[in-house]
Amino acid sequence: MDSGKQMIFEDRRKKAAKEVILKRVGEHTFNVVDKEGNFKYKVSTVPGKEDCECPSFVQNNTKKHDDATGEFFLCKHIYAAQYVESLEETIKENSTHTKEMAS
Ligand SMILES: [Zn+2]
Repeated sequence: MDSGKQMIFEDRRKKAAKEVILKRVGEHTFNVVDKEGNFKYKVSTVPGKEDCECPSFVQNNTKKHDDATGEFFLCKHIYAAQYVESLEETIKENSTHTKEMAS
């Protein structure tokens, strides 16, 4: 019946990250908003200090960043924000490269 369901399940994390709507509010800070533009969560992508206000992130990171021993859970909002930043880096690199090629 719902042929899209299985694919969504298999690729759920990526798919979920793609559906996150972000507004940049700082160098490493984004607001997650809903489709109407209403504020939902604040996301930080500072390397090593990633943070999000959503219940999923909070519940999975009870030790938070006090414990520097290992990786902590990154929610879909952080994935999405990091993806946006990686795209921006790619654009920057490409434009620099183009300039070098032209000169
Ligand atoms: Zn989150």
